[in-house]
Amino acid sequence: MEEGYNGLPFKMSTIPNFIGGEWRTSAAERLPILNPASGEVLAEVPLSSRDEVVAAIQAASAAFPGWRRMPVTDRIQFLFRLKARMEDQFEELARTITLECGKTLAESRGELRRAVENVEVACGAPILTQGYVSEDIAAGIDELMIRQPLGVCAIIAPFNFPGMIPFWFLPYAIAAGNTVVVKPSERVPMTMAKILTILEEIGLPKGVVNGVNGGRAAVDTLLDHPDVQAISFVGSSQVARHVYARAAAAGKRVQCQGGAKNPIVIAPDADVETTTAVVADSAFGCAGQRCLAASMAVLVGGARASFRESLREAAASRVTGSGLDAVQMGPVISAASKQRVEGLIGRAEADGARVTVDGRAPVITNFERGFFVRPTILEQLPWESDVARTEIFGPVLSLHEAETLDAALEIINRGEYGNMACLFTSSGDLARRFRSEADVGNVGINTGVAAPMAFFPFSGARGSFFGDLHGQGRDAFEFFTKEKVIVERWPRAVSRMF
Ligand code: NAD
Repeated sequence: MEEGYNGLPFKMSTIPNFIGGEWRTSAAERLPILNPASGEVLAEVPLSSRDEVVAAIQAASAAFPGWRRMPVTDRIQFLFRLKARMEDQFEELARTITLECGKTLAESRGELRRAVENVEVACGAPILTQGYVSEDIAAGIDELMIRQPLGVCAIIAPFNFPGMIPFWFLPYAIAAGNTVVVKPSERVPMTMAKILTILEEIGLPKGVVNGVNGGRAAVDTLLDHPDVQAISFVGSSQVARHVYARAAAAGKRVQCQGGAKNPIVIAPDADVETTTAVVADSAFGCAGQRCLAASMAVLVGGARASFRESLREAAASRVTGSGLDAVQMGPVISAASKQRVEGLIGRAEADGARVTVDGRAPVITNFERGFFVRPTILEQLPWESDVARTEIFGPVLSLHEAETLDAALEIINRGEYGNMACLFTSSGDLARRFRSEADVGNVGINTGVAAPMAFFPFSGARGSFFGDLHGQGRDAFEFFTKEKVIVERWPRAVSRMF
């Protein structure tokens, strides 16, 4: 597809759907896609109709029989080509992520690197989709377990990692022999559109991966349609619960990753300089719009005095601006998000918190119409305030205190979410207790964004995850295959031919 408007792969200003290997312009209502740094319209995205989504499901269904019969060694050749093309277009893809999502170019490169790593890991499908065999489970009887693909799988993605999150699922699903319908967030559909152009260029058979744009109605069509066998969802917990319940009621296999409110615990023996830098990066990196962002720092015992000041300084000095410039932090995704984050800061203040670093209503020269909130620190936020429990999803860190590690663990384990918790310490004993007792899916010890590599599951617990098997690595292959067990006995041949 030709290069066009705004450096995007489309001459047209509306992102088309990719169905059965064809680019189709939707007739549906459209939303503008805004550059969060400038507020400018980049293009438009359709809210595809039910019929358009069904057409994508039908294309995926039609492609399934041929694709699942292609030997796995041949299927993964497409992944090798995909990796090569993603490397070739790495900078262009990173720039697209920054344009539509707002994060810095370094952050866009980081998420894209993880996307590529998932493609690499999925190339292990010939081994990772193997079953197993036991000979002679009884006299003359053998038993086998083989893994088979499910059929059409749907991927529903959030706005905050348009380049990475679909790759927690997509390469594994197709390597295992499934076909896919992917629905990116309607706020950031351009990155996926570019990836779909790559899949077209590498000659992936038509219909193996289809892309539809849209919002709630498109999602509900995927959840209800009988030909969709599995749903992989990442987004807010509220929507994750809806997706999990509706898809499960329709008999589908479902994995839903939800929201977060991640506590970071700082012990008195943590190194101040390194810990401050890592915690600030976790809280304010990607403008706090990471499901693994630190949102509460719990200062234990003597850590209080030293860390309050250093975290305030780190927040106040963070360079904020357009992600395409040399900055440390970009805007939040939308005007509504800015308003929401600033509203929550106001609510915290009304509930008794002190806003010791206030990032509301900043003026960013040359980007006055952008959706910026600067790093913010809340102190003395009462536990009774709902802001202490709400996922803010912006660059806001609240500071809390606990007398002991046990008290900090209690704060972690009573929270609704269980995506990540981190501990900063130089004590192996504290670290060992923490990693065992924190009831969360991802634990960081002296790291602030405990993002699992592609060959580990991207975990999550309690209100942050609904399902059994996670995305990435072995879990993904298990999710995208069903196990069939065969018990086999062959009668003794009447006359032996050999
Ligand atoms: P979101 O829940 O608003 O949207 C996610 C997807 O669901 C989008 O594709 C959207 O079109 C669709 N959707 C939105 N409302 C819907 C509805 N009512 N019914 C059906 N579908 C609907 O999430 P978001 O704002 O795009 O992303 C931010 C959220 O995602 C945060 O809560 C963040 O913590 C979470 N997240 C979690 C992880 C994780 O691994 N646990 C990773 C990234 C983001």
